[in-house]
Amino acid sequence: MLPTLSQRIAQLQPSPTVALNSKAKELAEQGHKIINFSVGEPDFPTPDVIVQAAIKALQAGKTRYGAAGGGLPLRKAIVEKLEKENALTYKPEQIVVGIGAKEILFHLALACFNPGDEVLIPAPYWVSYTEHVVAAGATPIVIPMPTDHKAPRLTAEMVRPYVTARTKGIMITSPSNPGGFVIPPDEMKALGDYLSDKNWWIISDEIYEYMSFDGPSISMATLCPGVRDRFIVVNGFSKAYAMTGWRVGYMAGPKPVADLVRTLQTQSSTSLPPFIEEGALEALRHGKELMAEQMKVLRHRRDLAVSILKQYPELDMLPPNGAFYVYIDLRKVLAKSALYAKDNSLDFSKKLLETYHVAMVPGEAFGTPGFIRLSYAVHDDTLIEGLKRLGDALVEIGAKRTA
Ligand code: PMP
Ligand code: GLU
Repeated sequence: MLPTLSQRIAQLQPSPTVALNSKAKELAEQGHKIINFSVGEPDFPTPDVIVQAAIKALQAGKTRYGAAGGGLPLRKAIVEKLEKENALTYKPEQIVVGIGAKEILFHLALACFNPGDEVLIPAPYWVSYTEHVVAAGATPIVIPMPTDHKAPRLTAEMVRPYVTARTKGIMITSPSNPGGFVIPPDEMKALGDYLSDKNWWIISDEIYEYMSFDGPSISMATLCPGVRDRFIVVNGFSKAYAMTGWRVGYMAGPKPVADLVRTLQTQSSTSLPPFIEEGALEALRHGKELMAEQMKVLRHRRDLAVSILKQYPELDMLPPNGAFYVYIDLRKVLAKSALYAKDNSLDFSKKLLETYHVAMVPGEAFGTPGFIRLSYAVHDDTLIEGLKRLGDALVEIGAKRTA
């Protein structure tokens, strides 16, 4: 018999987005023509200037350990970015660069929360937040979203009923994954005003910052100076610069938090590979403009996806104005089918993959059964073909199609 495992870690669920992406890749390797709308990953190549900077760094011998938390030039460049684009002032010692925003978020949960603490997580949420909180021994408290898609999406009224004496943190994600929506500045400011006198950590995941199609996505810290001393910005390069495989993310926040996250890094991943840092630094030298054309392409794909989905009058969706997701409400269609009663989008997504060879992440993974997430950062032809197959699967269970 084996010795027992860690009880805390054994509670964790494997990431459903990563698992479904791996399954889709495996089926494709077996020769199936899989359309993969599952993983949140731009299909653009990393810009060549970034690739060249990393190659040059490799050739120059930048192949040894780097500085924990990121080298000073990269942290200074992040400070400049936050000042210029977000009107937020930080010192380099308040910045920690890590192996993707995911590692930063994991370490933040370990650094900020204790057993017994409760962390508010509005749903639909990105799959890893709840597991990070559980890994820290704290308790995720899920705040369900309103079912009326036109209602404000994250307000003090929504949050208040879930607050207890144990509340210690809140996660904010705008633009949202999987929701694909942006919290408008007036709602963000109102929520920030409510949070101004709360002694909680506010963790703001702004990784889709550049993907806000109908107006800017503005950080709560920019709008509400009152929250800044407990506010932690998380951002990264994966989405903004099509660098998912490079694994670079960062946080900016109060120095005691940054110090603890850096300590965790010294005891886990040690540092970012220095040649990767050079690529990230090059990305920041060019800034947002480097990917301006790709953002237009994403916007076009959003419009294309929405126009196709509109052929199915029973489908609803959250306002798809951010990130590169459409979060589709299947509940009216699922209700027509005995097979998928009770908002069972999980079984529907299994059938969609096995029979129609389309991989999409079901709402169960994001805390809202009955939905399915479309990641539309794929070529137009793939989008059209995959949505046709999704439509066929829906029609098979009774959905109406108008065109
Ligand atoms: N936050 C959100 C909302 C995400 O969608 C992702 C996607 N991977 C991450 C954080 C982590 O990004 P990465 O680790 O690639 O920087
Ligand atoms: N964040 C992306 C997603 O939601 C990438 C996979 C992951 O890290 O979860 O699909």
